[in-house]
Amino acid sequence: MADMTSSPRPLLNRRLAEFGTTVFAEMSALALRTGSINLGQGFPDTDGPEEVREAAVRALRDGRGNQYPPGPGVPELRTAVTAHQRRRYGLSFDPDTEVLVTAGATEAIAAALLALVEPGDEVVALEPYYDSYAACVALAGGRRVPVTLRPQGGRFRLDLDELRDAVTDRTRLLLINTPHNPTGTVLTREELAAIAELAVERDLLVVTDEVYEHLVYDDAEHVPLATFPGMRERTVTISSAGKTFSFTGWKVGWITAAPELVTAVRSAKQYLTYVSAGPFQYAVAEALALPDSYFDGFRSDLQRKRDLLGDGLRAAGFEVYQPQGTYFVTTDITPLGEKDAYAFCHALPERCGVVAIPNSVFYDAPDVGRNQVRFAFCKKDDTLSEAVDRLRRLAS
Ligand code: PMP
Ligand code: GLN
Repeated sequence: MADMTSSPRPLLNRRLAEFGTTVFAEMSALALRTGSINLGQGFPDTDGPEEVREAAVRALRDGRGNQYPPGPGVPELRTAVTAHQRRRYGLSFDPDTEVLVTAGATEAIAAALLALVEPGDEVVALEPYYDSYAACVALAGGRRVPVTLRPQGGRFRLDLDELRDAVTDRTRLLLINTPHNPTGTVLTREELAAIAELAVERDLLVVTDEVYEHLVYDDAEHVPLATFPGMRERTVTISSAGKTFSFTGWKVGWITAAPELVTAVRSAKQYLTYVSAGPFQYAVAEALALPDSYFDGFRSDLQRKRDLLGDGLRAAGFEVYQPQGTYFVTTDITPLGEKDAYAFCHALPERCGVVAIPNSVFYDAPDVGRNQVRFAFCKKDDTLSEAVDRLRRLAS
């Protein structure tokens, strides 16, 4: 075989060349290599509810889902997704035609963009953005157009004029994420209403990533974009079990949307994984039917962890943007005399044995976000307290 590595033509195609390794893998490897506390990649260090884990074991033992499940997902899960959307938000979807189960939200994002974007189409996305958005827009041959969330009054806000200005005749869809990773912002009813009006006025599709729908704190409220006038028929709503039930390794996600959108997304999805996670789909169906007390307890536990880490970060000298949602807290490192988040995060294991994520990699503009660092608080209290002790060394 020819030696492809010495060929003048790069092996990796042009669409992916700019992306390299995802920052989450990079920083988790750094944590492992240096024995640091990993507050980088967002995954809990304890598993979700025992009864949900047992439901997966039962499904495996009973031979449910051990062979290819149906393409759209097992009926039990599709029905559970629609019951959840009705119970929480008053949205009604048909489990047969308006739900598609995917390999995590990640595949849902990829399949939606591959299905709906033509080469050359513009995709307007909130910046800083979750890293797979940019890669998937590129894979689809689209062009990403970022609209930057900026700190104002202690939280990151969307400038609605900027959003309007970003839409052109070439815009195909708006890619929204609320609660927002990495900033922890939860878009308000007013912001969402304005996004909805714009989408209707300009006849745009909307893909909305709501994987943190249950992780909202204080008096913040998650309002699905699909509930606004004119949105149900143009919105692909994405969620997943990973964050809500603390089983990020199961990779069970789903979309809810109008039948023709589901059909389009399924056309792409069937050639990606076709199907996945058979037995786990049954377990997630049971998880979605857990009583409100589960969701409330999980949320208040995480809110307490947010405060534990947030207070510690403030004491260590960071400026903290109080998150109203997700399990991430974004900080500004400027008060520590630091300017470069990427360099700071690479030095942090050596300085105090903690790993975090530089938000700078989630921006197109090289200088915006340069001073922002994200910490995950979905960890045991002991782990967070130890991390806080270690971070305090930065203040001295
Ligand atoms: N979207 C956002 C905003 C995320 O933070 C993540 C990470 N969990 C995903 C999508 C991917 O979710 P999943 O693990 O279900 O693929
Ligand atoms: N969503 C997780 C985060 O933001 C990471 C998921 C991944 O590693 N792709 O940390």
